[in-house]
Amino acid sequence: MMLTTTSKGYNEARLGFQRRAQHRPAVIFAVTSAAEVEEAVRYAIDQDLPIAVQASGHGLIRPLDGGVLIATRAFNGVTVDAETRTAWVEAGATWREVIDATAPYGLAPLSGSAPGVGAIAYTLGGGLGLMARRFGYAADHVRRIEVVTPDGVRRNAEEDPDLFWALRGGGGNFGVVTRMEIELFEVSTLYGGSLYFDLAVHPRLPEIWRDWTRDVPEEVTSAIALVPMPDIPQVPAPLRGQHVGQVQLAILGDRGEELVKPLRAIGEALQDTVDDLPYQESGRVFAEPENPGSYTSGNVLLNDLKTLPDLAKARRHVVAIRHLGGALARHPEIPNAVGRREAAYSLTVLTPGGDTDPKVLDPWRESAIGRALNFTFAQLTDAEIADAYDDYERLVTLRRRYDPARRLQANHRL
Ligand SMILES: Cc1cc2nc3c(=O)[nH]c(=O)nc-3n(C[C@H](O)[C@H](O)[C@H](O)COP(=O)(O)OP(=O)(O)OC[C@H]3O[C@@H](n4cnc5c(N)ncnc54)[C@H](O)[C@@H]3O)c2cc1C
Repeated sequence: MMLTTTSKGYNEARLGFQRRAQHRPAVIFAVTSAAEVEEAVRYAIDQDLPIAVQASGHGLIRPLDGGVLIATRAFNGVTVDAETRTAWVEAGATWREVIDATAPYGLAPLSGSAPGVGAIAYTLGGGLGLMARRFGYAADHVRRIEVVTPDGVRRNAEEDPDLFWALRGGGGNFGVVTRMEIELFEVSTLYGGSLYFDLAVHPRLPEIWRDWTRDVPEEVTSAIALVPMPDIPQVPAPLRGQHVGQVQLAILGDRGEELVKPLRAIGEALQDTVDDLPYQESGRVFAEPENPGSYTSGNVLLNDLKTLPDLAKARRHVVAIRHLGGALARHPEIPNAVGRREAAYSLTVLTPGGDTDPKVLDPWRESAIGRALNFTFAQLTDAEIADAYDDYERLVTLRRRYDPARRLQANHRL
């Protein structure tokens, strides 16, 4: 369906989760098939217009002013092959839709913290999930990709090793992915949830968590968020208005309770939601807000976490640190563009509602070994984008080959 600025449904189709930057396209193609994606790309070529793609809108950074928006939300089928433990996922599917399709077979995808996030763009950006230290990046487990490149041609990406390499980690710079075949894992439950501590009572929490991560097995994927909880009814009563340290845990296998013991020994938690959890409820691990909002962020990847956040300064932002390593450090059999695998931690400073001051990352700048683009909600310079990759030049060369007119406006644009 093609919508123009005066069409009914135009606003609904252009708005996504991120409300800070908003697309204002001249034309929206609300697509439901690969043929319609092809038609939209060819229309943009004919009219010489820029193209942006939107599934859920969680990752919107670079709004389109005029041009063609390809809205994929209704192109969201998921087909599971339980025998080969794989699924074909269409352009607009969210992790919620993938998880719900795979769970009846006792299988789970490498989804992340928020089920509402689009599975395709998450994976194009690498994809750091709840089982990441055990299985690696989502992009490491992609079998096939169907894509309409910016010249309007439908391709099987794996037939061009460069394109297949770039799409797995290099973001949405090389075409509009119409569907992707991903691997699934025999996981139906996690030992997971969050331990919420009052940072005024437990100021050493970040240090204790960091020390604990040093010895945990790959079955443990965890993170910590320092969250100034607003004093509003939507926040559970024990957390309301507090500066909270939220340790987010997703543990595979049957040793969960034992592994979490040292964290529970810290003292009384404001709230403890860590328990056996069906994978279908894995959104409860991070328990992130589900309503559209406005946010910006900056990120650094670190080899260690010698410098911990200053709690007084952290009160103005959400500081979110994820533990990396394990399978994330290993290259997949067919290499991909995911960079900086040696990083041990990812540190994001997120500012709901306002602009993240890049200076808040100063304490870590010198020791930073790169950045994770999936956790950076801000327009970056070319040099800053290059910092995310081991082989930025190869990506740029390929983008020039497939999109010499730079028609495609990806969120992190090469
Ligand atoms: C609350 C929240 C939680 C998150 N949790 C995680 C996490 O745990 N792990 C992680 O790795 N990331 C996480 N992210 C980051 C997320 O993976 C990226 O922002 C991702 O790009 C969002 O994809 P989307 O489809 O939801 O968003 P959209 O804004 O719809 O898409 C983002 C961008 O991807 C490109 N794109 C979308 N669809 C296509 C397509 N079919 N073909 C080509 N390009 C396309 C476009 O450039 C678009 O601007 C999170 C983000 C938020 C806001």
